[in-house]
Amino acid sequence: MSSRTEPSFRESVDLMFNRAVKLMDLPPGLEEKIRVCNATYTVRFGVRLRGAMHTFTGYRSVHSEHMEPVKGGIRYATGVNQDEVEALAALMTYKCALVEAPFGGSKGGLCIDPREYEEHELELITRRFAYELAKRDLIHPSQNVPAPDMGTGEREMAWIADQYARMNTTDINAKACVTGKPLNAGGISGRVEATGRGVQYALQEFFRHEEDKAAAGLSGKLDGKRVVVQGLGNVGYHAAKFLSEEDGSRIIGIIERDGGLFNADGLDVEAVRNWIVKHDGVSGYPDAQFLENGAALLEEECDILIPAALEGVINLSNAERVKAPLIIEAANGPVTAGADEILRKKGCVIIPDMYANAGGVTVSYFEWVKNLSHIRFGRMQRRQEEARHQLVIDELQRLDDVMGNTWSMSPDFKDKYLKGAGELELVRSGLDDTMRAAYQSMREVWHSRDDVTDLRTAAYLVSIDKVAKSYHAKGL
Ligand code: NAD
Repeated sequence: MSSRTEPSFRESVDLMFNRAVKLMDLPPGLEEKIRVCNATYTVRFGVRLRGAMHTFTGYRSVHSEHMEPVKGGIRYATGVNQDEVEALAALMTYKCALVEAPFGGSKGGLCIDPREYEEHELELITRRFAYELAKRDLIHPSQNVPAPDMGTGEREMAWIADQYARMNTTDINAKACVTGKPLNAGGISGRVEATGRGVQYALQEFFRHEEDKAAAGLSGKLDGKRVVVQGLGNVGYHAAKFLSEEDGSRIIGIIERDGGLFNADGLDVEAVRNWIVKHDGVSGYPDAQFLENGAALLEEECDILIPAALEGVINLSNAERVKAPLIIEAANGPVTAGADEILRKKGCVIIPDMYANAGGVTVSYFEWVKNLSHIRFGRMQRRQEEARHQLVIDELQRLDDVMGNTWSMSPDFKDKYLKGAGELELVRSGLDDTMRAAYQSMREVWHSRDDVTDLRTAAYLVSIDKVAKSYHAKGL
């Protein structure tokens, strides 16, 4: 156990920011302008529930308005506080810049344990919170666009969108006031899975680069790699599911609130998820060893560690014992600044949060564009694309007939080639492209500068440079 004290989440983000900014040559004062949070609004509101008035505390923080609207999720958790919301809003600024989503950074939170309320109660609370934010333009299609985060999902986003629409009855772009909505309420295909899918694409891209794998002491493909995941919620579940089902990785450990599951042969992610939904935890799951102290699995021998629950879980108290050579930060801020230093010295490669979990905001960006353009992606071109492909197939068929049927197409080629891209295919393609391009921008800095020894610093350098250029373009 170290005698050093742990900084707060926001201080931790600032420390990492400062490490990077020291390597840059920014105009005097700009570093501070970029680092600080522009404003944080705190609201306390009452909702009558179960025959009594209940008071709730919520926040919406705007970190940087170098681009508008600002963007960032709304979290429902008992630990929500101003420091946390400001740290998360700052990360949103850097994340959006890194993946070239044209937004400033924001974040919101409500101090509440959503599991303690009935659905109709949560609706009342969410609508009231949305009302308080919307009336101050802290929910607005061109100024501030929330999204889901821990404890919230499609359902809450649909209530927020509807609340905004009720308050702005003539706003034709009202649906663009929030992203992560269900498909039938203006959402986009592939948004629910987007953050986990982005984690998968990030790892696929990492594994395409021999030099990067070597830095972590890894080789080969994702197939067979041993993975430990913390948090089987939206992000962790989708990441683990896609990595095991599509890339052949072995999920040997899953950590949840009530403990951890371990199975060296690999866990069935779908079965564990179903168990959690039914039993409100992993305890009692039959095909694995159960550990009451789930966090101990963070220290398990594995190839890839995916913290996908909450911040600060890898800290000064356990970093020294973490054995994973590669950590991908699916959650925001899971590694504290102090732990980051310890892990770097040990040679552990960390794929940083601002990149690793950017899949969510990337697809949110697509959803926002869809809402503003009022048309589903692929609607205009899909059939036209299919018709052009049909022409090629017909011509090949005709040539084959002319040549006396001497060759044939492989069985599923025709079906695959004929299928035009629908919204889901386009979203996945856009997400994959974004994750690849952003990774390459980070790794270029990582490998080309002697003073940059880790991906996090590289990510900060790329994103701060973009934010600085935006300010410069505005004449600031
Ligand atoms: P979620 O609420 O869907 O899931 C969180 C999961 O973590 C739940 O299964 C919960 O039981 C578990 N958990 C909570 N406390 C835990 C603990 N102490 N130990 C182990 N497990 C614990 O939330 P989410 O949307 O998946 O978000 C997870 C993380 O990913 C957060 O840091 C969030 O900011 C980040 N993130 C989410 C999105 C998104 O699109 N949802 C996007 C970017 C980043």
